[in-house]
Amino acid sequence: MDLGITGRRALVCAASKGLGRGCAEALAREGADVTILARTADEVARAASEIAAAAGRPVHHVVCDITTPEGRAAALAACPDPDILVTNAGGPPPGNFRAWDREAWLRAIDANMLTPIELIKATVDGMIARGFGRIVNITSGAVKAPIDVLGLSNGARSGLTGFIAGLARDVARHGVTINNLLPGAFDTARLRGMVALQARTRGVGEEVVLAEIRARVPVTRVGAPAEFGAMCAFLCSAHAGYVVGQNILMDGGQYPGTF
Ligand code: NAD
Repeated sequence: MDLGITGRRALVCAASKGLGRGCAEALAREGADVTILARTADEVARAASEIAAAAGRPVHHVVCDITTPEGRAAALAACPDPDILVTNAGGPPPGNFRAWDREAWLRAIDANMLTPIELIKATVDGMIARGFGRIVNITSGAVKAPIDVLGLSNGARSGLTGFIAGLARDVARHGVTINNLLPGAFDTARLRGMVALQARTRGVGEEVVLAEIRARVPVTRVGAPAEFGAMCAFLCSAHAGYVVGQNILMDGGQYPGTF
């Protein structure tokens, strides 16, 4: 299937690794003119050249912290007027809410709620004017089923989800869609870090923790970033114009609800 996005400008945030990178790879492969960003210069440059080599087209990159106003300005200078925006940033740390002060909450809200909203604010009117736009926010399965140690994520991302539910309906008439993509357990550096932390805390091997995670997933494995990227690319495609304001869960069937 031709996704119909050849030449569309795509800004993919937090994409030197993991899920963001999976999205950037899929969009570049489908012909989009992709710009990726991340904080570490050598990592983001290497990722851009690897994605470019695999896709057979140039991929631009910018070094920035997307959770800061300067970082967002740099990203938008590198990719002004994107047709496709994939918002993403690192997730907040795990812990107990009794240990989180106001600053900890503000960092989580900044990264996982206000940063995507600021990026959308800066880009959506251009999409409306051009009559086409695709925005995908990488959120978390924690929005649908809270994860006990990730209260900062449960809270901050739910705020974003509520806001998007309203905005998506407001901009849809202009050919602009906004949807959220909710990862369950995916094989990324973040997941491996969480597994290592849990293994240390409980005094068990990492393989034990990973086996427990797999056992909770009906497909009996964690997801691959490429699978996540393929779904993102479809949501950004010309064919997905009737998918609006949805929260699409990719968790291998882990969430047990009927809907
Ligand atoms: P990852 O650690 O593998 O990759 C994160 C990427 O984001 C890296 O390229 C990193 O350099 C970049 N990054 C982080 N903070 C940044 C910032 N402030 N500015 C610019 N770039 C930044 O993580 P991942 O697993 O791909 O997770 C992506 C998002 O999805 C996170 O918010 C995470 O909490 C969420 N998530 C992941 C999973 C999972 O299983 N992997 C599950 C649920 C939610």
